[in-house]
Amino acid sequence: MTEPDQAQPIIGLEIHVQLKTEAKLFCACAVRSDAPPNSCVCPVCLGHPGALPVLNCRAFELAVLTGLALNCTIARRCKWDRKNYFYPDLPKNYQISQYDLPLAHTGNFELASGGQMKQIRIRRAHLEEDAGKSLHDAPGRTLVDLNRAGTPLLEIVTEPDITSADEAYAFCIELQRLVSYLGVSEGNMQKGQMRFEPNVNVAVTEDGKEYRTPIVEIKNLNSFRAVRDAIAYEIQRQTAAWRRDHGYQLGRCPNENRGWNDEEGVTEFQRQKEAEQDYRYFPDPDLAMIELPDSLFDRLRASLPELPIARQERFVTKHGIDPVDAATIINHRPTTDLFEEVIRAGGEPGIVAKQFVNVWLRLANDRHSAVTDLGVGAGRMAELAGITADGTINKTAVDRLAELLLDRRERPLALATELGLLQEHDRETTVRWVEEVFASNNRAVEDALTNPKKTKAAVGFLHGQVMQTSGGKADPRLVAELVERKLAELRSNR
Ligand code: ZN
Ligand code: MN
Repeated sequence: MTEPDQAQPIIGLEIHVQLKTEAKLFCACAVRSDAPPNSCVCPVCLGHPGALPVLNCRAFELAVLTGLALNCTIARRCKWDRKNYFYPDLPKNYQISQYDLPLAHTGNFELASGGQMKQIRIRRAHLEEDAGKSLHDAPGRTLVDLNRAGTPLLEIVTEPDITSADEAYAFCIELQRLVSYLGVSEGNMQKGQMRFEPNVNVAVTEDGKEYRTPIVEIKNLNSFRAVRDAIAYEIQRQTAAWRRDHGYQLGRCPNENRGWNDEEGVTEFQRQKEAEQDYRYFPDPDLAMIELPDSLFDRLRASLPELPIARQERFVTKHGIDPVDAATIINHRPTTDLFEEVIRAGGEPGIVAKQFVNVWLRLANDRHSAVTDLGVGAGRMAELAGITADGTINKTAVDRLAELLLDRRERPLALATELGLLQEHDRETTVRWVEEVFASNNRAVEDALTNPKKTKAAVGFLHGQVMQTSGGKADPRLVAELVERKLAELRSNR
């Protein structure tokens, strides 16, 4: 028997995304994660007899917008179905969902994977309501909080096009970026606004014949890392199980649901799929079929912004921005919009990108705010990039000036002039600073000349001393040149 080939993972994802609406999907209760338990409830979301659901159109619009961004076909007619099951945090004993007519289907989503672009097909996306929460707060006691019951969820299902744990990880991150970019969801993982359920099996080839393992659905993952680790674990577990016993095959053994034990780093058996209860889906008689009018469809399609991945690509190809910088900026849409405004205001794209990443984002992070809330404005950001590009100020001055711009209203050039931060290009002046530093740092000069192990550090030290002596105004390139020249001169005199 020949050694089996590398197992080929087959992975599909189901993702539940909480949509960003004020009210729940079928009632006017507020969607709030910070409210006291059972304070955002009404007869509809509590499932009282006779209470009738009314669709929140905003949720429907956000769902359609997401479907469009996922390149899906949008159903112009769709309906609501009841998915029947019993659970203490599901007061109606059914979930309103969409079964055979989802609002979106047959799409695809592009992501960067292993340095290439890859299309992941989207099977469907449908709207449904969330359940409440069971709180197991003490041994032998469970409390139920129904604030979350009825919150709008978009369930997105991919085709099994994902081929590694890392690719699934990349997909989830890109999807989170998409939904927060579209403004359809905050995509906050800590608040459980995105939950992932990967379906995983592997294809192993031995003696030219392919074997597939049963499909395992890993339930309810709520971090990107858990998605990656649980899938990686499952791939090796299934491959090992098949190697031990070739009877472990799709169709011969039941598919199963497993849960992820984060502490142990293992998946654990929950139940066999055969034992899955029949949900007895049937159309909800309380809700009418939805007809999506052309006018609304057209309006939603027109409101679809340029998607992050396309925007990133444009920044790199059109503006020549470093791909890593572009990816960093694009994570936040208002920041990206501001970035483009700065470029329109005349900022050189490459320099503006560097300043966004190294200066503005850093200042914003320090203050736990966004670049758009720093109060600097596109015009002044563009000017700062401009006076950096033409050498009016150096990098040391950029950092100081940027921080001052947060509190002051002046323009960068005026402020730099006022504070004496303009770069000194004068050769004579710079030579004097270099001479001064060399005269008072004999030890470093000796190291630079005679100790190969210390040369680099010593030259760096001398360079720093010159910059300091100049009060940060010296032109670093000129300083480097003059320090080297001085050292060469001393070397040739020995
Ligand atoms: Zn309600
Ligand atoms: Mn669901």
